[in-house]
Amino acid sequence: MSLTLDLSRTTATPSAAPVNLSGLTRAELRQALIDAGVCPPEKAKMRASQVWSWIHHYGVTDFAAMSNVAKDMQAKLAEAFTLARPEIVERQVSKDGTRKWLIRTAPGIEIETVYIPDVGRAGALCVSSQVGCTLNCTFCHTGTQKLVRNLTAAEIVAQVQIARDDLGEWPSPKEDRCLSNIVFMGMGEPLYNLDHVSNAIDIISDNEGIAISRRRITVSTSGVVPKIAELGERTQTMLAISLHATNDPLRDVLVPLNKKYPLEQLMAAIRAYPGLSNARRVTFEYVMLKGVNDSPEEARALMKLIEGIPAKINLIPFNPWPGVEYECSDWKTIERFAAILNKAGYASPIRTPRGRDILAACGQLKSESEKVRASALRKAGVEGGEAEAA
Ligand code: SAH
Ligand code: SF4
Repeated sequence: MSLTLDLSRTTATPSAAPVNLSGLTRAELRQALIDAGVCPPEKAKMRASQVWSWIHHYGVTDFAAMSNVAKDMQAKLAEAFTLARPEIVERQVSKDGTRKWLIRTAPGIEIETVYIPDVGRAGALCVSSQVGCTLNCTFCHTGTQKLVRNLTAAEIVAQVQIARDDLGEWPSPKEDRCLSNIVFMGMGEPLYNLDHVSNAIDIISDNEGIAISRRRITVSTSGVVPKIAELGERTQTMLAISLHATNDPLRDVLVPLNKKYPLEQLMAAIRAYPGLSNARRVTFEYVMLKGVNDSPEEARALMKLIEGIPAKINLIPFNPWPGVEYECSDWKTIERFAAILNKAGYASPIRTPRGRDILAACGQLKSESEKVRASALRKAGVEGGEAEAA
């Protein structure tokens, strides 16, 4: 199988040619087939359905494998489009079974994707939405990596395809899957790339393809308030909020975006998230930082803050990375914090760190891609470019 994705330019705006069909929604795929003269408009729906199934159900990377598509049409497809996977630069497997891939989608553009077994129904894939992050949460490794380019829908879908290749999950199994859940908790702030994230979700949730239900897809945000309702309306996915503090002065330090969208606004947006119910709860992520946010008073303040919201809580033991000054709370302190939440009815809120030995745990992802200045990002229209200076 070829492992090159030809996105030949390294500027902040990804090159569009040749188009990788894996990143097109059904409607876009239909239109692309018409525009490239592959088939006439009246046949486009049927052809798009065939091609869709080969790409997203069978996982093929070669048009010649599409056996119900005529040879001359295969040739036209191959001329106009690509299905090549990006290059896998490195693959690591942790002693706990966690797998991490470093993926190069274009020269100088590297992203990380992590598969964690025994999470969710069977196993969860943690995907990246940007290269680096424009936000600077002080405890997050990704936040120290300044280059940001929004990933295209094709680059987001490719992460799922690569995991599926590795797990041997083609054709797309209906049951007994290893990869059952997707979490947008890798590199980047997904709500600063909502168009591409939303298209990628349309693709990976489609029933005649990868077919991961929207209820098994979780999008985590540090709190981009104006985009939260839109996320719910466009994707119907589960919401996760990186809360980490229960008062503005502390959250301003840990998650500097809080200065722009303080807790009161954030909590109002969460309460208004479409489709919230006891069966569809918000996940609050709370990183346990020694002596910073881990006191019993803060556990009680957390309860008060989220009162009345259908919620799950994930206490994340802080994962250290080279050069960071925070430390992870002691285990006893985490347990004491969790006990207060347990008493209030939140079951098993501690998230066991996974893949720490290969730097695959939450907040440890960081590739070696180079810095692009915030001003260049703004010029290139990357949302959140302004937030880097915050
Ligand atoms: N940008 C999004 C999604 C990616 S981060 C967001 O912030 O929500 C995924 C989760 O890992 C977030 O809750 C983030 O706060 C947390 N995290 C970041 N660095 C961490 C670290 N060093 N240890 C533990 N969790 C961390
Ligand atoms: Fe970006 Fe999320 Fe890391 Fe904050 S925690 S710097 S928003 S990736």
